[in-house]
Amino acid sequence: MLAAGVQRRSTIVAQRALGCWLTDVEENSYLDMTSGIGALSTGHSHPRVVAAVQQQAAELAHAQQNCVATTEPQRQLMASLARTCPPGVDTFFFTSSGSEAVENAVKLARKATGRPNLITFVGGFHGRTLGCMSLSSSRTSCRQGFQPLLPGIFHLEYPAAGRAAAVAAELDQLLERVTAPDETAAVLLEPVLGEGGVRQADPVFVQHLRDVCDQHGMLWISDEVQTGAGRTGAWWGYEHFGVDPDVVVFGKGVASGYPLAGVASHRRHFETIQPNGLGGTYNGNVVATAAANATLEVMEEEDLVQVAQYSGSRLAACLREMEGVREVRQYGLMVAAELTLEPDQFNAMLRCAQDYGLMLLGTGVGSTLRLLPPLNIRSSDLHQFRIRFGALLQSFL
Ligand code: PMP
Repeated sequence: MLAAGVQRRSTIVAQRALGCWLTDVEENSYLDMTSGIGALSTGHSHPRVVAAVQQQAAELAHAQQNCVATTEPQRQLMASLARTCPPGVDTFFFTSSGSEAVENAVKLARKATGRPNLITFVGGFHGRTLGCMSLSSSRTSCRQGFQPLLPGIFHLEYPAAGRAAAVAAELDQLLERVTAPDETAAVLLEPVLGEGGVRQADPVFVQHLRDVCDQHGMLWISDEVQTGAGRTGAWWGYEHFGVDPDVVVFGKGVASGYPLAGVASHRRHFETIQPNGLGGTYNGNVVATAAANATLEVMEEEDLVQVAQYSGSRLAACLREMEGVREVRQYGLMVAAELTLEPDQFNAMLRCAQDYGLMLLGTGVGSTLRLLPPLNIRSSDLHQFRIRFGALLQSFL
């Protein structure tokens, strides 16, 4: 049997899926508003992604990174990603999961600065390995009973809108009183909290963060695992702030559901790591890389970054009209709806969603629904969402 520690929100036994729709073994269809937690940027089984994966699997499935120099698909992916990254961020280390990418960003920051400590923010989620768990603080259920965790990590309040000045002052104070800049390697920030309730950082804070990092030689790591690949209506979530990070951590949507993630940074930072300092058997798997190349092509051809902004506004407008919705926050197709339901009722509603042919996600915060549909969600799918979710919510009011 499967381990009980995974929080399963449905009893669906999945059979196949296409676009925004998933079908179970009994031929019931569900509108998938989760994209597998933001991974299926181009939807389930986009034909271009399927074709690229099939062709790659037939040609070359595993080109282990210690044993070959690189592959053509990997060269292509690095060139494409470098075009989306900040100037000078042209060097990559690929991994299989977002957690592993965050871990490697921490290793990079420690080597590049020669310093041990890290600063991050309450409400952040950065993954489930021991290191990532130490950085995450979106809910205690992810950490409880697994301590002790990594030392040298300091959490500040998340700099949500209106909190820029207060958190900037806290950051300055932390560096003065708790962790000296010459002991502090990096500051890790989610541009928009995902698990932590879908809130964007205040650009004024991030501009201060950029200045502080420049002044003290610390690195700003942008955790773009959930916000990257067009999700927030920009290619990367940091683009909303008008300043560039030193390190970009990516995953999820970059490869449409195939396990590819990684770290991008300046070559001079990566060059501080000795040979054999990085590795991993499946990292940068070539089939997942082919899926990423196809994803990036589809995103460009279908203009999915712009489309996400447009569809996100429509989804937000539809939610705002519904009784039982207290507040809507929308960044591209990263959308949260705070409902008026009590937490118990909210959880019961999430469990009931499948009876209405819907797949839904919450966050770690109260009765907040998190909607992360494929970036190419169609008008008819949005219409179906309005009908199905409207009926589900009504039944709980
Ligand atoms: N960082 C962020 C911002 C995430 O949302 C997640 C996953 N939800 C991770 C890191 C970890 O990624 P993975 O689950 O692929 O290990």
